[in-house]
Amino acid sequence: MSDLLRTPERRTCERCGRVEQYDEGVWRADRLGDLYCIHEWDIDGAFVPVKGEATPAAEEC
Ligand SMILES: [Zn+2]
Repeated sequence: MSDLLRTPERRTCERCGRVEQYDEGVWRADRLGDLYCIHEWDIDGAFVPVKGEATPAAEEC
């Protein structure tokens, strides 16, 4: 079997086009989008990120 990993490793914002990759517990920006965007992640599968206004932003300046 080759599908040991079921966690999402990549996500793309549908609004600004930001692309992040999951690496060692953190999301790393592969392509910067709009820093002020309320990212709407398009993730395949059943993984749903917590939605809310209290989500801490992990943006680099
Ligand atoms: Zn976005």
